[in-house]
Amino acid sequence: MYNQTVPFPAIFQVNENIIGQVPLFLKRNGFEFKNILVASGVEQSFRYAMTILEVLDGNHFIVGSNDNATVEELRAYCLLNNVDLLIGVGGGTVLDVVKRASLLANVENLLVPTIISNDGIVSPIAVIKDEAGKTVSCPGKMPFGIVVDVDIIQKAPTKFLQAAAGDILSNISATNDWVLSAATTGEKINDLAYMLARSAAFGLVHHETKDIRNRNFLKQVVYCQINSGLAMALAGTSRPCSGSEHLISHAIDYHDLSTNTLHGFQVGSISIFCLYLQKRLDTKCINYAQELKIPLAFHQIDPQIEQQLETIFETSLKMRPGRYTVLDTCKDMKFTDIYYEYISFLERFKITDNSLEPTENYLEYKMYKKQHAAKYPYSQPPLET
Ligand SMILES: [Zn+2]
Repeated sequence: MYNQTVPFPAIFQVNENIIGQVPLFLKRNGFEFKNILVASGVEQSFRYAMTILEVLDGNHFIVGSNDNATVEELRAYCLLNNVDLLIGVGGGTVLDVVKRASLLANVENLLVPTIISNDGIVSPIAVIKDEAGKTVSCPGKMPFGIVVDVDIIQKAPTKFLQAAAGDILSNISATNDWVLSAATTGEKINDLAYMLARSAAFGLVHHETKDIRNRNFLKQVVYCQINSGLAMALAGTSRPCSGSEHLISHAIDYHDLSTNTLHGFQVGSISIFCLYLQKRLDTKCINYAQELKIPLAFHQIDPQIEQQLETIFETSLKMRPGRYTVLDTCKDMKFTDIYYEYISFLERFKITDNSLEPTENYLEYKMYKKQHAAKYPYSQPPLET
């Protein structure tokens, strides 16, 4: 029998100069709250929190870190003061603490992100640091409202916007993996979640301008992230937006091989490689990555990655047991062979990218292959159109 209940947000606002309109959005949607608490960081987000408190009655709370102690402090504050709405203003740290504390205190939350860099805004997941300082994904409360002021997020450094746009590419490779898994393992697919995740990505890939400083494109990036979040909520799993590319990315993070790279930038680059593995790489996706200045060769993200390709592959298979992806079809092959075959493929089709300057490892590998006259174990047909 079909019976599904998904808590979906009710307020979605993405526009210029709307931070002062939060009370209007609440009223317009028929929401009334008695005790509102606005949580923010101490720098820019503090100023934005004050802008909201100028137009709305409420108190203010400072979130200094995304650790358990801060979550507990905020939860206790909410319970003690009968807070019925928690508004989170800031980047990932503030929003994760707000989502987690509002679940524990059973309070509604509305999020006003000041930075966007991945698809985690609309999700019931909060990334919190445990006692040992390691980040863990915990359940959080799904926001009932999202207000994105484009004037604010546009001021964020370019690399955040680039990462936000890059993360979307993973929807294409992740949904391909989903279909592959359905055919191989019988995994169920939620059609609406599948369609939301894919249309979000293709809406961006086919957008006429891919300039992250262009307001229309930036708005589209935010819509896509919201759609990705809804797709995951609908599917009840991260499957629509997380496949082989996320497994490789998590393995790279697990071994601390690229500590200074933003998640969305990293998975965007790995998605291109995974699309190649899936035989689904087309010029639109390549152009999209190139226009965003995301390297096609993901070892260029950090030189350490190229030294550890086999380890990364082995770890990626263990990152999420039960998540079947195209990587499972590569188990009998040497990952280094597959990866350099991909680099040769890019070279062969003259897909130029300044990230493709031959590295010592690659040249050594080519020499080795020549000397041993071995055949590439993995052969790809030309680009599909
Ligand atoms: Zn992601």
